[in-house]
Amino acid sequence: MFAAIIVILLIWASMWAFYKFMYPRAPKSMMPQAGDVTTPRTCNFCGHSLAEYRGVLETQTQELNTEASQDQQQLFFCNYEHQADFHAGKTYQ
Ligand SMILES: [Zn+2]
Repeated sequence: MFAAIIVILLIWASMWAFYKFMYPRAPKSMMPQAGDVTTPRTCNFCGHSLAEYRGVLETQTQELNTEASQDQQQLFFCNYEHQADFHAGKTYQ
């Protein structure tokens, strides 16, 4: 009976160590910092969803500045590559 408990504890400990090694915590720099906006946004190029602080937010100010068009003037992209491709007129495939 005692051996069974020891075996269960041993398996639990080795599994815990295994998962600790296989899935380490993400580095601090990857975590949201204070002041980061974590609202999910959709990329205007590929359509993937990403937290706002991880991507590129582009605000166009030179055109119409009415309250109603504020939302449409904000463009969001996963990265600068998607931003460049969007403005180059390419389509995501
Ligand atoms: Zn994208």
